[in-house]
Amino acid sequence: MTPMPQPTTVRSAETRLPVPVQFSTTVAILRNGGFHRLVTVRPVAEGEQLFHIEGRPGREPDRYSVQVGEDIHLNPFDAPDADDQTRRAPWQFMNHACEPSARLQGTDVFALRDLSAGEEVTFNYLTTEYQMAEPFSCHCGSPRCLGRIGGFKLLPEVERERLRPWLAPHLARLLAREAALPPA
Ligand SMILES: [Zn+2]
Repeated sequence: MTPMPQPTTVRSAETRLPVPVQFSTTVAILRNGGFHRLVTVRPVAEGEQLFHIEGRPGREPDRYSVQVGEDIHLNPFDAPDADDQTRRAPWQFMNHACEPSARLQGTDVFALRDLSAGEEVTFNYLTTEYQMAEPFSCHCGSPRCLGRIGGFKLLPEVERERLRPWLAPHLARLLAREAALPPA
């Protein structure tokens, strides 16, 4: 397992300021109050790998988990304190967007377009999550916003098809299997 690069730690009162905490050569976490965003720290080219996700595998989705296989959901590692936990799983702060800046393929995260330094790294949760533990309402502002984000399972067929180019392999396989089934 590759150790995470050491973060530029921000502690005490500073944690309440929007100071980026860098976790790799490509991304940092921006904390603003209780809200976190993952942002680029340098320009990134379309298709470039941003980072790799590591976590504690489980068989069921959880609030912060990301689905990387049919029965594999990665959770942030257990850690003695919040800073340590954040350092070991910065990916948990990737927010959802219906028109995102990145995509997941297995445990690798790639830029979907050229990104400038400081842009937020988001992905469409519906391209990885079959059924989410905690559905929510999206307010990303995109004209293609799907509104209620509850999982790929709940999408109408037309939306499933539209997401096909960006689907994680486990959902792409599911879509292919469904297409192979005779109509009900
Ligand atoms: Zn949206």
